[in-house]
Amino acid sequence: MTKISVSQIEYVDVIVIGGGIAGIAIAEFLARHSHLSIKVLDSAPQLGTFASGKLEGWFHTGALYSGNEDAQTFINCVNSLEDLINLYTPYFTQKCNIAQAEIKPNFFTPQVIPTSKGWFNDRLVYLIHPGASAPEITLSALKSDSLYLEIQRNRVLGRLETAYGQQHNWNQNGNCRAPIYAQIEAYEGLNCSLRYSTETIDNLCRRFDQSYGLEKSNYEIIRTLDCSMNTSTIMKDLVASALAQGVTFETGIIIDKLLIERYGQIQIKSLLCQTQHGFTKRLKARLFIFAVGKGFEAFLSDLQMRAKLKRSRSAMVVAQPALIDTNFVRMSTKRRFHFNHFVHNCEIGTEKFVYSMLADSSYTNDNLINQGDEDEVDIEPILESAERYFGKDQLYSRNLFSYECVKTEFISQEEQKRRYSYWIESNPKSNYLCVLPGKFSFFPTVAFQAYQRIKTLISFDECAPKSTFEPDAKVKQEAEKLIANSYPMKIIAEAIDI
Ligand SMILES: Cc1cc2nc3c(=O)[nH]c(=O)nc-3n(C[C@H](O)[C@H](O)[C@H](O)COP(=O)(O)OP(=O)(O)OC[C@H]3O[C@@H](n4cnc5c(N)ncnc54)[C@H](O)[C@@H]3O)c2cc1C
Repeated sequence: MTKISVSQIEYVDVIVIGGGIAGIAIAEFLARHSHLSIKVLDSAPQLGTFASGKLEGWFHTGALYSGNEDAQTFINCVNSLEDLINLYTPYFTQKCNIAQAEIKPNFFTPQVIPTSKGWFNDRLVYLIHPGASAPEITLSALKSDSLYLEIQRNRVLGRLETAYGQQHNWNQNGNCRAPIYAQIEAYEGLNCSLRYSTETIDNLCRRFDQSYGLEKSNYEIIRTLDCSMNTSTIMKDLVASALAQGVTFETGIIIDKLLIERYGQIQIKSLLCQTQHGFTKRLKARLFIFAVGKGFEAFLSDLQMRAKLKRSRSAMVVAQPALIDTNFVRMSTKRRFHFNHFVHNCEIGTEKFVYSMLADSSYTNDNLINQGDEDEVDIEPILESAERYFGKDQLYSRNLFSYECVKTEFISQEEQKRRYSYWIESNPKSNYLCVLPGKFSFFPTVAFQAYQRIKTLISFDECAPKSTFEPDAKVKQEAEKLIANSYPMKIIAEAIDI
């Protein structure tokens, strides 16, 4: 008897391929504002197992980019914060804990509101900016280095003051409004009200300078709005909201083929898939959204993307228990002097852990990775800096682990796009959209901007979302199961055999 092959056929309005922060945030936002039927597919057994689960957990509000010559990325961070406060804080009350706070009468700036189990930790990030007598300048033979450092320092102080100090009132007639480009660029001559140091930070700077045989040099220490974020909590809450609006998730599903109509503008007709139980499935939709991170490689030619994919690897060191209780970032004009330390809390079973994440916040360009090169990224510079800040004894008394992760970006010839913070690409008459965020932190803006683009691709009735969201126990439990714990947590749990 001949075996009959059966495949299930399923139709929804929108299919989102990829369940990292990009896919999750887009599906959630679309579901909250429409009655469209939405399905999220992921090839992994759980969502959030790739870049969105392996990151350092640094919520960027612009500090890292405040010294860049070009202000665009800084502006993107500031705008994303505005989107977070307008679109997420009121809806995810208690959880999305960054809001406008009145720091003087009728003057509001964004602040992290302390709360247990919120998305953001109220332990802020101190930015250490070296001065002219710091090791990187003293040890450099180039006169231009100190000049460049001075220019960068002024930009950092000025831009941060404009956005988060005493210059811009974020409350404009009851709405949250970020400063605009012209304000950000008019930073010259401002006195920065955000200068703030602690004994811990002073000691770190002193020990670092002494490790080079120097007396403590002059540093600018700035208290920023950057903080560490609980990425798996954010994803779980977004998934819970999506589930409550009827979004379905299917994990462990492999896309074998895109069936494409190639006459005129490319249209995807169906996805041919293998489910986790080995069945074949044909998925049809009005719109397909690709948010597959490093998985874009497989779809580039079918989707006729014009941009080139660039992948780079970055290393990270986990130290448990944490080395100190303070988040800090050294921003330098010299790459090898970049260093950052973030503190994270986690609960594994009934036990609570505090651990440090150490990195140098720059990426190792690796053109060979697409050809299967397996060389390790060098973690020695991170360890060397950590020895200088914390001392060898303290550092090596910890449980230390390193891992690396791939960062995926699109590279375009266009100047505007090269300064990208997130990528959203579609053709007007096609039925698909490609999305790639450069940072997890941009999820509010990525979801909102993708939503605006979706409205140009398919027609649907928008609906007013509920004002706040409180998940029921069943939805919460389902979301918990769908999202993987963050990778550092997994490493710690395995090491201590929980
Ligand atoms: C080392 C490192 C540190 C970082 N630190 C920070 C930080 O501190 N703060 C910050 O804001 N950002 C940080 N980032 C950037 C951030 O991690 C990424 O920008 C973000 O997580 C990308 O999200 P994504 O959803 O696009 O990709 P991913 O999280 O990789 O998600 C893609 C999903 O698509 C799925 N997928 C892939 N192919 C297929 C397929 N064919 N079919 C179905 N599913 C598929 C994958 O399983 C995955 O779940 C860091 C990045 C790296 C590499």
